[in-house]
Amino acid sequence: MESRIATCPCGAVQLVCEGEPVRVSVCHCRNCQRRTGSAFSAQARWPDAQVTVTGETREWSLTGDEGGRATFRFCPQCGSTVAYVLDTMPGLTAVPLGLFADPGFTPWPRFSVYESRKHGWVEITGDTLERWD
Ligand SMILES: [Zn+2]
Ligand SMILES: [Zn+2]
Repeated sequence: MESRIATCPCGAVQLVCEGEPVRVSVCHCRNCQRRTGSAFSAQARWPDAQVTVTGETREWSLTGDEGGRATFRFCPQCGSTVAYVLDTMPGLTAVPLGLFADPGFTPWPRFSVYESRKHGWVEITGDTLERWD
């Protein structure tokens, strides 16, 4: 099975993700904007067992607007989110797309979530893209 390597910017945490991601999405919600410090987040999800994390991580949790809980793992050295799980998507680990530093990453995002919070200058494209408010 093909595997992909994700690395935090300081290099202390590495993730090996085996096989094809089962869901690739972007999210424009307020938490993703704040967590990433960017206009939106982009992430790929694999079944938990297909993601292996090496290096020390710490975690924090928050309860979202709709009541679901999210738990984020981050590198204590550089502070980057390296993986997260949502109560509403049990069994799946999300890995920020940027950690692969691969502009050729496929598949492209299939879901664009919280478009009601999207910055006006952002446009997500793709033939099979589904948009959710
Ligand atoms: Zn780091
Ligand atoms: Zn979000």
